[in-house]
Amino acid sequence: MAAGGTGPDASDAVRVLRRVFGYDSFRGAQQKVIDHVIAGGDALVLMPTGGGKSLCYQVPALVREGVGVVISPLIALMQDQVDALTALGVRAGFLNSTQQAHERRQVESAFLTGALDLLYLAPERLRVESTGSLLDRGTISLFAIDEAHCVAQWGHDFRPDYLALSALHERWPTVPRVALTATATKATHAEIASRLNLVDARHFVASFDRPNIQYRIVGKNEPKRQLLELLRAEHSGDAGIVYCLSRASVEKTAAFLVENGIEALPYHAGLDARTRAENQARFLREDGVVMVATIAFGMGIDKPDVRFVAHLDLPRSVEGYYQETGRAGRDGLPSTAWLAYGLADVVQQRKLIDGGEGDDAHRRRLATHLDAMLALCETVECRRGQLLAYFGQQATACGNCDTCLSPPESWDGTIAAQKLLSTVLRLDRERRQRFGAGQVIDILLGRKTPKVTQFGHDSLTVFGIGTELREGEWRGVVRQLLAQRLLGVEGDYGTLVLTDSSGEVLSRQRRVLLRREPERVAQAVPRTTKPRRAAPVELPEAATPVFERLRAWRAAAAKEQGVPAYVIFHDATLRQIATESPATLAELGTISGVGENKLARYGREILDTLDSG
Ligand code: ADP
Ligand code: ZN
Repeated sequence: MAAGGTGPDASDAVRVLRRVFGYDSFRGAQQKVIDHVIAGGDALVLMPTGGGKSLCYQVPALVREGVGVVISPLIALMQDQVDALTALGVRAGFLNSTQQAHERRQVESAFLTGALDLLYLAPERLRVESTGSLLDRGTISLFAIDEAHCVAQWGHDFRPDYLALSALHERWPTVPRVALTATATKATHAEIASRLNLVDARHFVASFDRPNIQYRIVGKNEPKRQLLELLRAEHSGDAGIVYCLSRASVEKTAAFLVENGIEALPYHAGLDARTRAENQARFLREDGVVMVATIAFGMGIDKPDVRFVAHLDLPRSVEGYYQETGRAGRDGLPSTAWLAYGLADVVQQRKLIDGGEGDDAHRRRLATHLDAMLALCETVECRRGQLLAYFGQQATACGNCDTCLSPPESWDGTIAAQKLLSTVLRLDRERRQRFGAGQVIDILLGRKTPKVTQFGHDSLTVFGIGTELREGEWRGVVRQLLAQRLLGVEGDYGTLVLTDSSGEVLSRQRRVLLRREPERVAQAVPRTTKPRRAAPVELPEAATPVFERLRAWRAAAAKEQGVPAYVIFHDATLRQIATESPATLAELGTISGVGENKLARYGREILDTLDSG
C-alpha cells in the first residue's frame, strides 16, 4: 500500500488512523511503536488489556508494503477479528485448522496476489513447511506476534508452538517483528525477549494502570450467594465473566445464576467444541450475558463492554489475575473486578502445588506466585498500588479499590498467632493423627465436638484459650498466617503444620500484624439501588432515547450480518452520536470511531435513525 520512492512515514500513519479507524489521535505509546515499526524496527510492546495493542500492528501493516502476518493462538476468535477489520474496509483473512481446504486456498491466493492487508495465522501452521514456502512467495510487511507471553514456559498460557517463533527472524531477517502482550512482570518480559530473539528490539512498556476498574477482594462464606448479591445490587443486566477453578463449580454456579433469573452460560474444556463456540458467540453477540468459566475462557476476547469480572476461587498468580480482570471495561467505562477468597482456597492451592507435576524448582515457582497472590488478598494497602508494584510500576493510593474506599484496620495479632501456633504444635506432637483448621479452631474456642472429645483434645492446656475471637476471625488468622508463611499446610486433609518461621512468633521474637475485615462487600451499595439504566450514566437526559434508538438499530444490523454489535459501532461511538446529533454525513464523519468505510456503509441509516425521533 505504501507510496514508492520516499517510503512511508509517520504522517501516513495518522492518515490511516483517521480514514480507516475514524480516530483522531494515537494513544499513549501507540505513535512511537507505530513509527518504529513502519521504519522497519523490531518492537516488544507491553500494554495492559484495552491499552490499544491492535493498532500497533494494524496501522503499520496498512502503511508498509505487503501483507501483515499476525500470529495468534486464538483460533476461535479469528473470524470475529477478520469481521471487525472487514467492517472497517481492511482486507483481512486467516489460516487455521478450522477451515476447509478450498477456503484455505482462497486465502492463500489472496495473500500471494497482494489482495490482503492482514493475514491471521495460528502458530501451529508455521510448523508445516507448506506455510513457510507460502510466506516465501508473498510480500510480508511485518510479523505481529500477539499474546506473546504464550512463549513463556512458566507462565499461565504457555503454548509449545510459540517456541518455534524464534525462527521467524532467521528465515525472514528483513521483516520487522512486533510482539505484544498484556502480561508484564520483569521475569516474563525478559523471557519473552530472549525466547523470541527480541533482545535487540525496542521495548515499549506502557503504564499498566486500568483506572476505570474497581478492585475488590472479599472474604468468602457463601460465594454463590455473595456473587448474586453483587450482580443484583450493582450489575443487573450487565455482561460479565465469572471465573471458577473447576468444571464442576462452573456448572453449578451457572445453574445457580440461571435459577435466579440471570442469563448465565457455562464454558470449560469439558464441554464439546460446539457448545463452547455457541456459548462464546452468545456472550459476544448478545447484550448482558454472564459467562461462567474456567480460565480456559477469555484470552483475546475483545468485547469492550464487559462490566465485571468475578473470581469465585483464588487465582494461581497475580499475573493471571490481572489478565483476567483486565477483560473488564476495555471501553474505559466504570467496571468491577471482584474476588471472593477464603481459607479453603489457600489449602486447596497449596495441595495442588505439592501434589502437582514438575520438579522442585517448578513447585517453588508456583509457590512464589501463590504467595504474591495471597499478599495481594491480605494487604491493608491500596490494591492497585500493590498490583502495579508487582509489575514494577508505581502508583499512589487510587481511591477506587476496596482498601482505599473503606480502609481495613490492622491489629496486633501476635498473641492470637501464638495461641494458634501452640495449638498446632500440640497436635503435631501427637503424630498419630493430623488435623486441619477446623479442629484447631474448635479447640481454641473450647468446643466439645465429637471429634474433640474422641481425641481427648478437651484436656489440652490450649483448650478454650481463644474465646476472644469468633470462628470467622480465627479463620482469618489462619489464612493470614498461611499468607505470611508463619504457618504451613500439608497433605490431602489440609493438615496445619509449623514452618521454619513459626518459632520466631512462639518465642516472641516476632510481632504479627493482621488485617481486620471491615464491613462492606455488597452492603456498600444499598440493595434498593435501581438497576442501572442501559445507557451509561454520562449521557445527557435528552440523548438517552436517541441512544436507545441507535442501539436498537445496531442490534438489528448486527443480527442481519451475524457479527457482534460492537463490530458495527462501540457504545462510546453511539453515545457521542446521540449527544452531538450530527445533521450531515460530514459531521457524522468527525465522530470518534466513524471511519471512511463505516460512514459510507451506515451513515445514511444513522442519520435516518436520528431523524426518526
Ligand atoms: P488491547 O488489544 O490492547 O487490549 P485494543 O487494541 O482492543 O486493546 O483496543 C482497546 C480499545 O481502544 C478498542 O476498542 C480500540 O478500538 C480503542 N482504541 C485503540 N486505540 C485508540 C485510539 N488511538 N483512539 C481511540 N480509540 C482507540
Ligand atoms: Zn486503591
